[in-house]
This record gives sequence, C-alpha cells and structure tokens, in this order.
Amino acid sequence: MSKLENKVALVTGASRGIGAAIAKRLAADGADVAITYAKDVKAAEAVVSAIEAIGRKAIAIQADAADSSAASAAVEQVVKQFGRVDVLVNNAGTAIPKPFEEATLEEIDRIIAINVRGVLVTTQAALKHMPHGGRIISIGSCVGERTMTPGLTAYAATKGAVKMFTQGLSREVGGRGITVNNVQPGPIDTDLNPASGDWAAPQLANTALNRYGHVDEVAALVAFVASPEAAYITGTNLTVDGGTNA
Ligand code: NDP
Repeated sequence: MSKLENKVALVTGASRGIGAAIAKRLAADGADVAITYAKDVKAAEAVVSAIEAIGRKAIAIQADAADSSAASAAVEQVVKQFGRVDVLVNNAGTAIPKPFEEATLEEIDRIIAINVRGVLVTTQAALKHMPHGGRIISIGSCVGERTMTPGLTAYAATKGAVKMFTQGLSREVGGRGITVNNVQPGPIDTDLNPASGDWAAPQLANTALNRYGHVDEVAALVAFVASPEAAYITGTNLTVDGGTNA
C-alpha cells in the first residue's frame, strides 16, 4: 500500500514551483490532492492532469491566499468534494525583494497577508476537518531562522512568524495526533527565485553545496513529513537549504 493511500491533501499555491512539485509528489505517494492558485488557471489544470494521469483524484481551486474568505472557502470546497483534509501544505507565499526602507505599506501588507494571515486562516479552516493523524506542513524559509541576504527583511519576518506559529500550534493539536511542522527551503530554482536571477549570486555563495536546490528536493522532505513514518516529528523547523544556514 502506498504511504498516503486514502489520504486527502490540500497544497496551497501549487500551480507552479515548489507547490506543484509537492502536489505531484504527494499524489505519487498515494494521496488525492487539491491545489489552490491565484492567477494561472492553465498551469493549475496541468498539475491536475498530471495527478489524474497517475490515477489519483485532483482539483484546482482559484483562491488568493491574501483573501481570507477565499482561503477558508477553498478548504470547505475540498471537504465538500473529498470529505476531509488529512494533509495541509501551506505553500502559497511571495517575496518582494528590496531594501526594507523602500518597501511600501501596500507591499508590506501584501506579504503579511499572504505569508502569515493566509497560513493562519487556512490552517484554522482545515483543522475543523482534520482527523487524528493529520499533518500541517508550512513552507517557511531558511531566512526565517537566519538571514544573510539583504533585501529579504520583510520576507524573513513573515517566515519567522511561520516558524513560531508552527511551534505554538504543535502544542495545541498534539493531543489529536496532529503534527505541525515547518519546512524551510534555501534557494530553490523557481519563478520566484530563479537561479539565473539578479538576487541569485549572494544566495548561491551562502550555500555549502554551491548550487541552487530543485523543487523535488523540497517535495521529498514534505512527503516524508506527511507520511505515517514521521508521526513523532512535530513542532520542528526542518531546513532543506544546501547548507545555507550551516
Ligand atoms: P513561485 O512564485 O514559483 O510559485 C508560487 C505559486 O503560488 C504559484 O503556483 C502561484 O500561483 C501561487 N501563488 C502565488 N501567490 C498566491 C496567492 N496570493 N494565493 C494563492 N496562490 C498564490 O514560488 P515558489 O515555488 O518559489 O515558492 C513557494 C513557497 O516556497 C513560498 O512560500 C516561498 O516563500 C517559499 N520559499 C521559496 C524559496 C525559493 O527559493 N524558491 C526559498 C524559501 C522559501 P499563480 O501562478 O496562479 O499565481
């Protein structure tokens, strides 16, 4: 039997990048998977088709993580369709790299709304429908613990919030057999952080392995944390960063 057979997973922000890799990997491990996305319906549909092609059920829901009503409505839609949420992966997130003093109030509000409020609201909605053995996995960042790249100050603050949210919530829901963990990627080659982008050089220089990571390397850690084998791992911040924070 596959590790996640008969499980329902919801991965937010999963039409591209790390989220898409996580959604496909959880499906490969046996889960039916719902994804959310903000704008790119075609990319979201391609992820759904890839999951269906391996014999699992999948749906894509348009829900901007910055919109609290849409975020909780997405969870309700998953429950209506699949009956529950066993695994929630809070992946939707964004960065607006620039010196902190130049960040506008609108940019600060947006990054907090997506990276922090979106995580809290989605988790609250999912917990209403999460059975014993459930998994809450948030995608934080290695800069949530230690930050060496200028321009990521506001972003790092939001990922630090995800870290403490994870630790706090693990103690509230542990009695229900639900684990809460924070997976913290380092530089991963995606549209958000291209290995060839302007911000790549200092990030690359900070890795021990002298390379950007691949989305599948993050998905592999998430899949392990989602699996029954990880039942005794909770309240942790698991870094997959090529040695950036070493
Ligand atoms: P990408 O920008 O490559 O992909 C983002 C995905 O999230 C897309 O599917 C996008 O959908 C969706 N999305 C964007 N904004 C929203 C929103 N407001 N509501 C719902 N969905 C949204 O990002 P990455 O894959 O690089 O990043 C994923 C997560 O990993 C983020 O939380 C990020 O902070 C974190 N991370 C990334 C690192 C990296 O180096 N790449 C390093 C550390 C952490 P659509 O196209 O429809 O907008």
